[in-house]
Amino acid sequence: MVRISRWIDKINIRLRLTLLFAVLVASIMLAFSLSVYYLYNQFREKEFNERLHNKAITTVRLFEDVGGITEELLHAIERNDLTTMYQEEVTVYDSQNRIVYDSGKNPYKITPKLLAHARAGHDFSLRDGEKEIVGVRYVDKRKNVLVVVAYAIDLYGFSKLERLRTILFTGWAGSLLLVVLAGWFFSGDALRPVSDIIEQVKNISARNIHERLKARRQKDELGQLAATFNDLLSRLEEAFSSQRSFVSHASHELRTPLTIMMGQLEVALLQKRTVEDYQQTIKDAIDEVKKMRDLINGLLELARINNDIFQLHFRPLNIDDLLWQVRELLLTQFPLYNIQIEFDESQQEETEFKIKGDVALLQMAFLNIMENGCKYSEEQRVNVSLLAQSDNIRISFTDRGIGIAEEDLPHIFEPFYRGETSKSRKGHGIGLALTQRIIQLHNGKIWAFSQLGKGTQFVISLPYPDEV
Ligand code: ADP
Repeated sequence: MVRISRWIDKINIRLRLTLLFAVLVASIMLAFSLSVYYLYNQFREKEFNERLHNKAITTVRLFEDVGGITEELLHAIERNDLTTMYQEEVTVYDSQNRIVYDSGKNPYKITPKLLAHARAGHDFSLRDGEKEIVGVRYVDKRKNVLVVVAYAIDLYGFSKLERLRTILFTGWAGSLLLVVLAGWFFSGDALRPVSDIIEQVKNISARNIHERLKARRQKDELGQLAATFNDLLSRLEEAFSSQRSFVSHASHELRTPLTIMMGQLEVALLQKRTVEDYQQTIKDAIDEVKKMRDLINGLLELARINNDIFQLHFRPLNIDDLLWQVRELLLTQFPLYNIQIEFDESQQEETEFKIKGDVALLQMAFLNIMENGCKYSEEQRVNVSLLAQSDNIRISFTDRGIGIAEEDLPHIFEPFYRGETSKSRKGHGIGLALTQRIIQLHNGKIWAFSQLGKGTQFVISLPYPDEV
């Protein structure tokens, strides 16, 4: 059994479908043929028994009319018998189980018990090999209870039965062959789209990932499978291309400070310089190295956060406390920044802004947005407001700075993307990508609204602890 199931596992779907189909149809047809054969045999037996019965009655009546076994009786029987059956023989038993008439030489041996049974009114029919026997009770004019036993072989019926068997068997075997062929053909036809898809998928690799699968019929299950696979390919292609551009952007961003540094150092080496000149060159080089360090830190953070095995340390925290901490941190670095934190006036004083989150990550996210607000506005000011809503906490960061152009707005969360207007300011375009990922990890959402020249607003919503 195990071996059969292992073998079935190995064979392909087409063969399996064909075999299943063939076994199913063959069994139905076999059941049909067997019932036809059985029913026909029943019918034949019934008909033959009726003939035997008639024969028995006719014979005993003649026997009674003639009044004993005489030449006349034998002639009468021969005259009346137009349909003699093969090896037929009729025997008449009297009430003492004695044979009073026998048409042949081999009376069928009937047990006295069976004779008594028939005499009691239960006619019987038996089968012994090819012979079929009937026993009939007959009461003659003198009220003697006789039992007439007639037997014969239904040669004609059996030959018809045999013919029927041959027809049914050859019909069954022939149609089985047709069923296997038809099953093989139809399952091949039904599975061709699958093989098509397999062939097409085999030919897709990283080099031609832009290619898409074509399904013959778009609406059926295989069409849907192909469409799903195409969606997957699109996502993969996007991921590939963003990875490729990520790498080229990262290399570019790292190469720029290196090139500047090389230039400065080479110029310094061209001739002898004063100590002040050398000090200035070293300071400039350190500035470039700092830029590189910031970029590499940002990249590492992004890689760490995008890594699935990255462990989050979620714990309950107060958003308002966190915002104040970030404000302090930023002000120690940039004392000229102006950061206003306010609560929505409609909020009750004791409202708590508790969520569950990773302190270090959320600090990083808020720091990026606050810093951007100050960095990209002349007045270096950002307003932070907090609002506890029914199902989340909403934090808005609003500045009246340079704003973001409409065409830049959809891309600002992409790594390395920097708006046209902001290129004059320090930065690598990693902060918002990082921030968005951090907010996503907290099951939150982030939106940006902006008008060029007027200002920008970032809105973050974070769910309450039980929804995290
Ligand atoms: P960076 O500030 O280092 O360039 P970010 O990822 O923080 O990188 O921001 C991406 C881009 O989004 C910025 O280059 C800038 O064009 C735009 N941006 C973000 N915040 C603001 C803001 N408050 N005002 C105007 N532009 C902004």
